[in-house]
Amino acid sequence: MHTNSIIELNRSAYQKNIDFLKKEFGKKVILSSVVKGNAYGHGVREFVTMAYQCGVTHFSVFDVEEAKVVKTELQDLVTIMVMGLVQDEDMEWVVANDVEFFVFDKYRLTKATKMAKKLHKKAKVHIEVETGMNRTGFEKSELNNVISFLKKEAEHVVFKGLCTHYAGAESIANYYRVDKQIKRFEEIYQYLCKNDLKPEIKHSACSAASIMFPETRMNMVRIGIMQYGLWPSPEVFVNYLNTKKNKIDPLNRVITWKSKVMSVKKVNIGDFIGYGTSFLAERKMKIAVVPIGYSHGYSRSLSNQGRVLINGHRCIVVGSVNMNMMSVDVTDIETIKKDDEVVLIGSQNELSVSVASFSDFSNQLNYELLTRISKTIPRKIIE
Ligand SMILES: *Cc1c(COP(=O)(O)O)cnc(C)c1O
Repeated sequence: MHTNSIIELNRSAYQKNIDFLKKEFGKKVILSSVVKGNAYGHGVREFVTMAYQCGVTHFSVFDVEEAKVVKTELQDLVTIMVMGLVQDEDMEWVVANDVEFFVFDKYRLTKATKMAKKLHKKAKVHIEVETGMNRTGFEKSELNNVISFLKKEAEHVVFKGLCTHYAGAESIANYYRVDKQIKRFEEIYQYLCKNDLKPEIKHSACSAASIMFPETRMNMVRIGIMQYGLWPSPEVFVNYLNTKKNKIDPLNRVITWKSKVMSVKKVNIGDFIGYGTSFLAERKMKIAVVPIGYSHGYSRSLSNQGRVLINGHRCIVVGSVNMNMMSVDVTDIETIKKDDEVVLIGSQNELSVSVASFSDFSNQLNYELLTRISKTIPRKIIE
């Protein structure tokens, strides 16, 4: 366990995000909290506990490993839905524990049904259909087959949901493609209804779709990035603001990532700092070493670019980010000593380092940057 840095999750910020999202979507729409990728780097164990306390009772994960973590934390208090991988050997656990899951091929549908029969339980499936993303989902040509199967096996398989996923709702450049997907999805739903097969719910929206295409909210939204207080893209934020009178960002960053100064040293003019020659001291400098590097998820592409906060100053990373350490320029901070707080993401006094500013520098998506933050860093919920 690393204790050289800590991640804090701000409960009141999260509560505000959830309150905002629920108000935006209305009471009739279920909010499923997407916690794949270690809850977007926030730490899934701590995060789901906090989310439950804030009123979230539906969670979406990628695989069974993640589903098991949520189950261990919250038992039967919440609904768990696996959107991605269920390996054959996990099917028993999934069905036995009433975990819901996406089904996008005949193989899994058959597998699930067999297991349901064996366990005398019902498999709770969400039928994912292909609408244009071309990733996972039943093709149109398979639908009749699926329909008759679900009717025949209704005793063993619950048709919980009909679902799809959009191929890039966060950018208006994909408008035509996403719009076509929405129409196709509705056609498929109507086709099923005409064949006397109705899912309990239908759902399709991720964060971006829920804002850019409100008609995609349907019965449930699968919200990842926005619940963490971040926008899927600047376009989505602007789009949201354009629909509102008061131009205030309703989202609040939940995560803070902090470390401490490990040592301070002086460097002479004309000397290089760190490995190689990427940083030359053009004046007499004072350097603080921070025990965070790319092995913790602080990208090497932030070498000579990243910003951190120390004693109320914004400081720049000098030289390359190493595996476990990096150096920052603290020449202009008068008093600085070992153990002073270093903020990598978050606020200190009046200043803050946003997740977005990270990705501007390193050309990483919000999503990628967050999920790379090491699992081994301790997470703590603060009020
Ligand atoms: C990741 C994911 C989401 C959530 O996406 P956000 O952009 O973070 O809201 C929703 N649905 C599926 C299928 C996903 O994989």
